[in-house]
Amino acid sequence: MTAANPTAPDASSKRSALSEPVESLTGVGPTRARHLRALGVSTLGDLLEYFPRTYQFESAEKPVSQLIADQIQTVRGQVIAVDYIPSRPRPRFEATLDDGTEKLAVAWFNSAFLRRQIHPGMTLRVKGKVTFFRRIPKMVQPKWEVVDADAPRVDQANFRPIYPASQRLPSETIARIVQDNLDTALPEVEEWFDPDLLERRRLMTRRKAYEAIHRPIDMQQAMAARRRIVYDELMLMQLGLGISRRMRQRGLAAPVIRLDKLLDQRIRARFPFQLTDAQQNAIWEIARDIARGQPMNRLLQGDVGSGKTVVALYAMLAGVANKLQSALLAPTEVLAEQHYLTLSNLLRGSNVTIGLFTGRTKRQNKRALLEDLSEGKIHLAVGTQSLISEDIEFANLGLVVVDEQHKLGVRQRAVLKSKGLAPHYLVMTATPIPRTLALSFFADFDVSVIQSLPPGRLPIKTRWLRSARAVEAYEFIRSEVGAGRQAYIVLPRVEEDALDESKSVIKEHERLSKGPLSGLKLAILHGQMSTEEKQTAMSAFRDRQIDVLVATTVIEVGIDIPNATVMLIDNAEQFGLSQLHQLRGRVGRGGQASHCILISDAVNESAEQRMQAMVDSTDGFEIAEMDLKLRGPGEFFGTRQHGLPEFKLADLTSELALLQQAKEDALAMLNEDPSLNKPVHVALRKALTHQLGTTLDLALIG
Ligand code: ADP
Ligand code: MG
Repeated sequence: MTAANPTAPDASSKRSALSEPVESLTGVGPTRARHLRALGVSTLGDLLEYFPRTYQFESAEKPVSQLIADQIQTVRGQVIAVDYIPSRPRPRFEATLDDGTEKLAVAWFNSAFLRRQIHPGMTLRVKGKVTFFRRIPKMVQPKWEVVDADAPRVDQANFRPIYPASQRLPSETIARIVQDNLDTALPEVEEWFDPDLLERRRLMTRRKAYEAIHRPIDMQQAMAARRRIVYDELMLMQLGLGISRRMRQRGLAAPVIRLDKLLDQRIRARFPFQLTDAQQNAIWEIARDIARGQPMNRLLQGDVGSGKTVVALYAMLAGVANKLQSALLAPTEVLAEQHYLTLSNLLRGSNVTIGLFTGRTKRQNKRALLEDLSEGKIHLAVGTQSLISEDIEFANLGLVVVDEQHKLGVRQRAVLKSKGLAPHYLVMTATPIPRTLALSFFADFDVSVIQSLPPGRLPIKTRWLRSARAVEAYEFIRSEVGAGRQAYIVLPRVEEDALDESKSVIKEHERLSKGPLSGLKLAILHGQMSTEEKQTAMSAFRDRQIDVLVATTVIEVGIDIPNATVMLIDNAEQFGLSQLHQLRGRVGRGGQASHCILISDAVNESAEQRMQAMVDSTDGFEIAEMDLKLRGPGEFFGTRQHGLPEFKLADLTSELALLQQAKEDALAMLNEDPSLNKPVHVALRKALTHQLGTTLDLALIG
């Protein structure tokens, strides 16, 4: 779902050129179409929204035969030979380029990874200082990029957009496809806002912005275009938020959940430990909220392992004592299963009944479970977000807890509301919310923070090893297992893939069992296993029948096994920083010192920064800020469904001023034109409908 999508389908209007599939575009055959689709571009509309990553002044390219010594120049040529010379102390990668006029020798030092990136047959553009050696021109450490073999030499300097490229589709090719089709797309871009608003905020028209972002005359114009499109993305988000706030204010009364001393003692007695002060505070804040007749809307924030689940369970039990059902929603099935087990253990011997609802719950079982749920025989329902869907009935739902999810979707709220339910909401997150995001996504949440970890936790030591030293990690795991502890090994994928060199669970399990970890008890865990298989593996690990669990990121959140003291993440460069931090949070849960080992031959700067950040910090807040900086919020929030748009361009780390403006403008707009019925808002409404679906109508009608 995209914010500024101008292709919002509208059944009543004629088919827009923007929905034309990429196959039908100028300069796109079946192969390029496939490569475009791999980049998420399937229609002309997608292409229009495939924005440049940056812009560059491009110098004119010279024929190799005309190069001049000691000047920085640009050349385009075909790679005719490559070689890697591993000689110490400065190993180098060499290539020979030929542009038809002459050959150029190129060398890069300390760049073994280029062996995987530069191959004979490719056409490269290289820019660097030219020297001559025995009359052969040479460049050392030039800047380089892969370009389209068919494209002619650029003989005039120009200002050009650089697109996010793939191995198969260089930026230059994308640029050409965009230029060839832009004029067909532009007439379809409709204005969203009143001319007054555009003038007041000094914004160019939407159509102009889409033109100038792809075809700017200079940097200033490109930036102005970007600002307009970012503003639109932020407006769409703020309108979505405004609408959802209005839905809630007009909402039904929430059930009252009362707590007294006796109940408090009864709930507390369920926990095998004393609550920390921080947990205690959070509980007080929640207790105050749920005793009022309005729905609670609270974010519970605390680092991995700080004890949020316990706080949520407290609230759920308070609900049960008040004869209300609670639902706990987890982002993955494995985590839902884990929560189910934890709650079952804690509530053993009580009258509280728990039901587990996942996509894998057996069909017959499920029917009975659903019936029990609708009759109120199940008190606590644990599941994934699908638990809140049209065909699931609750008898008296009082509280919804959402774990590790950034927000309950507007859609899901609407579903509940349409059933006459207005439960309290508690959203748990281990991801600290930077200020800009607090101003936007969570603008209407109250926040409780658990700042401190439960007592007795030792800091986790993190090391980063190159793969050549992986044996040290395996030796370390052996010694920990020898001391009675357990370990996780996490890999990026389940199975081998011909196109991807990264390691897989299946293959590594086999390799490690026979080799480096032979004699230890290993098991696997990944998302393609059935619920029973996963549960079997998890409980065997919990019961210490298994020493090492080789897994994918299914164990990323929530898994709680205090005896595991080593988290080894292989091909660690494949993971995002927050994800690495979450994975590390799976250890350090008991009284023993724990260790996180990252194995990675990180070859680019961003990967190195991630590894280093992990080694340097165990503070979730620092990590999150760093992650946001390195990746931007689009990816930071992943593709999780939070009911709000993902941004293509807006960067919430730096867009504070524009965000404030959009917020003001959205509120003013909703005040003045609450149902967005003015003729000038037709296209805007269409875009919002596309984003929020029928929820929008629900909300606007009331
Ligand atoms: P989070 O959900 O914040 O990651 P959990 O609620 O899963 O954290 O708690 C992490 C671990 O700490 C669990 O094993 C839990 O039983 C334990 N724990 C929680 N609160 C306390 C406490 N007050 N004292 C000791 N251990 C606790
Ligand atoms: Mg948790």
